[in-house]
Amino acid sequence: MTAADNNPKRAGVIPDLKGQQPMRWKNFELKPWGRVCRAPTTAARPERLSEIAPIVRENHSNGLSVYAAGRSYGDSALNSNGQNCLSERLDRILAFDERTGVVDVEPGVNFRKLMNVFLPKGWLVPVSPGTSFATIGGAVAHDVHGKNHEREGSFGQHVSELDLVTANGVSHRIGPQSRADWFRATCGGCGLTGVITRVEFKMRRVPSAFVEAKEQRLENLDGFFAAFEAAKGASYSIGWIDALARGAALGRGILETAEPAAEAGFVWRKKHAASVPVDFPAMALNALSVKAFNSFYIGRVPKSGRQRLRAYEDFFYPLDAIEQWNRIYGRRGFHQFQCVVPYREGEKAIRRLLETITASQSASPLTVLKRLGPGRAGYLSFPMEGYTLALDFPNRAATEALYRALAGVTLEHGGRIYLAKDALLSAEAMPPMYPELGEFQRVLEEIDPDARFQSDMSRRLHLRARA
Ligand SMILES: Cc1cc2nc3c(=O)[nH]c(=O)nc-3n(C[C@H](O)[C@H](O)[C@H](O)COP(=O)(O)OP(=O)(O)OC[C@H]3O[C@@H](n4cnc5c(N)ncnc54)[C@H](O)[C@@H]3O)c2cc1C
Repeated sequence: MTAADNNPKRAGVIPDLKGQQPMRWKNFELKPWGRVCRAPTTAARPERLSEIAPIVRENHSNGLSVYAAGRSYGDSALNSNGQNCLSERLDRILAFDERTGVVDVEPGVNFRKLMNVFLPKGWLVPVSPGTSFATIGGAVAHDVHGKNHEREGSFGQHVSELDLVTANGVSHRIGPQSRADWFRATCGGCGLTGVITRVEFKMRRVPSAFVEAKEQRLENLDGFFAAFEAAKGASYSIGWIDALARGAALGRGILETAEPAAEAGFVWRKKHAASVPVDFPAMALNALSVKAFNSFYIGRVPKSGRQRLRAYEDFFYPLDAIEQWNRIYGRRGFHQFQCVVPYREGEKAIRRLLETITASQSASPLTVLKRLGPGRAGYLSFPMEGYTLALDFPNRAATEALYRALAGVTLEHGGRIYLAKDALLSAEAMPPMYPELGEFQRVLEEIDPDARFQSDMSRRLHLRARA
């Protein structure tokens, strides 16, 4: 870790945090990554795990929620006019077994730290989201997936046990085999079961710090689906789509697949991240600028494709190369829409979604298409076997209507929206999208009958039975 990584402002760990250095409770204004909402809150920033139980036991006017690195796009970590526990300083690696790769960490440890500490020794986190700033606590609470979900499943599936401080301040050790229902409610449970204070999972041995990445250009959506099918056995795969291309070029883009590279060594060149110093003007991202960017991005790959060695860091986290990139959307921020639709409906649904998006001409650069497998660890985990589409929309007057239209198409095709990315879904959409919601609510009632843990999201989406 460099000093810059430890600096919350530089690393974007707590964007736009207003307040002073640690004290027991301070007034803050917290924002999510999409910056579409802001939540005035009173927050505590514990330095030690022993401080968690007293924080949980205090009287909370409007419930308590954990805010980690704030890399969720919507309101899942926010708790307006209530209390927040900031977990960023609980970032110690507690134990590591070099024979088995089993590691024990505090919840505020992020993927960046794990890569910097363990990759030079030949160990890699089995599943990683697209930003290294997300913490392990956040990874469990949204049961995150990576570019290898088809093969490796979700993050929670690699967790052997975790410690959870529940509403009464008592710490419980739970896992897939002990208190399995509490574990299933906690993985993907949006932080509502309690504070995760320790997570144990197994790292993977890798032959080097690099992948052998192959990129191919696809002219349209049919080409994409065929290429995905052909790449089924790949260790990693991700598609980048030009969401402004229409007609015969609908769905044109790049498919990138990768395999661990042998004998390439464990030293990689760490890039200095550039930073977006100010909020861009609202109109900086328009159809013209996005079109130019997309053409440039696709044009980087020759028509015949290309193959190159890439450091895991670059391959997993391309967006981390620009700190605070969320500022390019201006002060009003942006929404990310991410859905998954089952394979049986996949091609039809993705076509309809893309047609709706291109007609609106409001997509941002870097629309992502990935395949997901069946792996999921919790009742409210996002993954289902199918295609997942993710893209950003600047927060403008028409965005909400577009989001609702896309959510409607998703629902019609038996899909669901990812809660880690969402700030707009309505409560009515939850039961059909998340059929295990009732089970989640039953277990939550048992763990936290007085609804001590709450968030803006839990209230908006009625994640508790008695909302
Ligand atoms: C650029 C970018 C790329 C991304 N790519 C992916 C991707 O590929 N796949 C994917 O699945 N996700 C992806 N995400 C989403 C991100 O991984 C999740 O939102 C993740 O939960 C963020 O973790 P965080 O530490 O920032 O948590 P926060 O955003 O601060 O909190 C998220 C949730 O976790 C809860 N929480 C956090 N810590 C604890 C704890 N200790 N105890 C209890 N609850 C806790 C919070 O209460 C909240 O409900 C991406 C996000 C960004 C910004």
